[in-house]
Amino acid sequence: MSALGQKDGLLGLGRTGPRQKPLKVLCLGAHSDDIEIGCGATLLRLARRRPRPEFRWVVLSAPGQRGHEAALGAKQFLGSAATDALRVHAFRDGFFPAQFAEIKDAFESLAREFRPDLVFTHARDDRHQDHRVVSDLTWNTFRNQLILEYEIPKWDGDLGRPNFYVPVSKATARRKTHGLLSVFGTQRAKDWFSEGTFLGLMRLRGIECRADDGHAEAFYARKITVRL
Ligand SMILES: [Zn+2]
Repeated sequence: MSALGQKDGLLGLGRTGPRQKPLKVLCLGAHSDDIEIGCGATLLRLARRRPRPEFRWVVLSAPGQRGHEAALGAKQFLGSAATDALRVHAFRDGFFPAQFAEIKDAFESLAREFRPDLVFTHARDDRHQDHRVVSDLTWNTFRNQLILEYEIPKWDGDLGRPNFYVPVSKATARRKTHGLLSVFGTQRAKDWFSEGTFLGLMRLRGIECRADDGHAEAFYARKITVRL
């Protein structure tokens, strides 16, 4: 898989050509920093591709200042591709299991208006209750897409053994970290929300995939279909 990935991008999704349609990328996050933590470096790379991918950036809960941070985050990581990409919902932080039906309705309307090629979402074995609901509904809703589940370091200690890697340059890893620390002022007081956490995890994943520049983001790809 790594040879195919390096040559052709994300399993062929990255091929470029004059007649190629733009890649449609859906980013799902329960809270306003999840997408950036989980796949920010990968998105920095994808946003530079030509033809430029079409993004949809969905945050399920972002009350008050966090809604502002969600918009800043999308702009910081997607640049001009963030235009019209952001959708912020107002589900109650920490209570997603109790709002399952309403969140499922939101997923179903999303699937009617946007048909992605590639989906980034929370990992199935993430122990945060809101993250799990988003992961489950992703698989429930999107069945013809490549789904990559990202990882979020946290107190629960639920990081596992990912099986899909995106190597990134050290400069991109630093841009991700800088973006996180500059955008999410509401999170800076948390002891884990630090340069060391984000760079350290990317360095570790870089070791696991022998990344050229030493850094990578890692994902769980539970199902991969290759059309030859
Ligand atoms: Zn979260």
